[in-house]
Amino acid sequence: MAHTPSARLKQTKNGSGPQRLAIFFGDQLDPDSSLVRSLGPEDTALMMEVAAESRHVPSHAQRTALFLSAMRHFADVLIRRGIRVRYIALESPENSGEFETEIVRAVAAIKPAEIVCVHPGEWRVLAMLERVANSGRIPLNILPDDHFLTTRDEFARWAKGRASLTMEFFYREQRRKTGYLMEGKGKAAKPAGGTWNFDKENRLPFGKKGPEPKPRPPLRFKPDETTRAVFAVMKRVLPDLPGDVDSFGWPVTREQALEALDDFITHRLSRFGPFEDAMWSSEPTLYHSTLSSSLNLKLLNPRECCERAIEAHRAGKAPLQSVEAFIRQIIGWREFIRGVYWLEGPAYAARNGLKQHGELPSFYWTANTDMACMKSCIGQVLETGFGHHIQRLMVTGNFALISGVHPRAVSDWYLGMFVDGVDWVTLPNTLGMIMHADQRPDAAKGVTGLVGTKPYAASGKYIQRMSNYCTTCRYDPAERTGSAACPFTVFYWDFLIRTREKLSDNQRMTMILKNVDRMTPEARTQITIDANLLRRKFGIEKNDDLGR
Ligand code: SF4
Repeated sequence: MAHTPSARLKQTKNGSGPQRLAIFFGDQLDPDSSLVRSLGPEDTALMMEVAAESRHVPSHAQRTALFLSAMRHFADVLIRRGIRVRYIALESPENSGEFETEIVRAVAAIKPAEIVCVHPGEWRVLAMLERVANSGRIPLNILPDDHFLTTRDEFARWAKGRASLTMEFFYREQRRKTGYLMEGKGKAAKPAGGTWNFDKENRLPFGKKGPEPKPRPPLRFKPDETTRAVFAVMKRVLPDLPGDVDSFGWPVTREQALEALDDFITHRLSRFGPFEDAMWSSEPTLYHSTLSSSLNLKLLNPRECCERAIEAHRAGKAPLQSVEAFIRQIIGWREFIRGVYWLEGPAYAARNGLKQHGELPSFYWTANTDMACMKSCIGQVLETGFGHHIQRLMVTGNFALISGVHPRAVSDWYLGMFVDGVDWVTLPNTLGMIMHADQRPDAAKGVTGLVGTKPYAASGKYIQRMSNYCTTCRYDPAERTGSAACPFTVFYWDFLIRTREKLSDNQRMTMILKNVDRMTPEARTQITIDANLLRRKFGIEKNDDLGR
């Protein structure tokens, strides 16, 4: 019979009385963290499966199942090490459904000398912990998250006094600090291959026949007894979550995550770099690693991922341009995004610099649309809880940006609908990178976004160049008026017209905006009319409630 970790509590050691209540959230499942290593028989680890975390934004069934199954497996690891675990299972009759009340209940039952946990990944959770500690007058010990290469303070020191935060400069410092892909020592060290990045080389589309050789799909893991028990409980307690679990195969243990890493390094890394921006309708994951959920749940460590890729390069099994692209995502982009999240504070979530207020169209929840690219990308998310980065940025994200959806509505969708969704990742990536909602004055470049220096807005022609989606679509990416006009192309021009004034101080937009200025007033008016009609058709109506 399937068990939850709580069913095995009586098998754990009994110490001399609990001293610390150590809280582990679902994205803190590193069995080798300094907190795990410090736990003694007198301490109690608290883990909570609470329904509110699947509801505060609608959470994809696979995302919820992944978190819960990985948590149950992690609790079993702790129990096998003799650590006392108070595990609040989703189906437990006493489960109040919220972190805050569960921690208060645990404190009342255990009476610990202090609460200790690794720094949580969300402002909301940090504030909740501080509230509980203050109202219960119990010391709260928040430990730095040693999963990351850069601490909050280090990033703040790096950012201090800079006119603009440029990821590229942060990334170069990370390369120097780690020595990854560097030649020579100390100040004389130079990037391997004589260049810091291969971005320009890494934008290849496929030919007409698509990817050749065909990418080997990522390793999937058949749901075990624990995961199947989670599915059954979710059916009873959380029956209305979007998406379904039928295709579930995500790594739920550290061992599986290591196998998935090995699979990527062996079978896809070598072609990852050149084609990282390409898309193909029958190939949902192409050469991407799909390791982000394992990294974000902390089943994998970023250092081991980079070191495995470097080993493959040294062994002649992966070219520098692919290894550099992979490492750049991990020690550059991922750490930069986290730094921005904590630097900017909770008010960042309310940024809406372009003042966009539209509703998220209903087809983001159903894939029921005649746009072939959106149908494919959203359908894939509903089926698997995953889309690769260029689908997220240039299809589902680009559409939301140029059609005028509220940034928070988009951000909530990305947080809940992807298996790797955690707030520190999703918020800056969506508000900043996708929705360009975080503008600020920049001494060198006029007005620019904090995370992205310009909006990643593109017409249907970009999607046509980088994918095969348009070949089966009823729309024509080259048309911006008429019944065959591609909605991306209509919205792209409408976006430039609508934001003309706001973006005019951004020097990187100067050339692009000149195209708007060259249009006749009649052409501009026609685009505005067509875009408004499309917004009505798709239900992208003004929604001020999301200005939270
Ligand atoms: Fe997407 Fe437009 Fe291409 Fe259709 S024509 S697939 S809507 S980009």
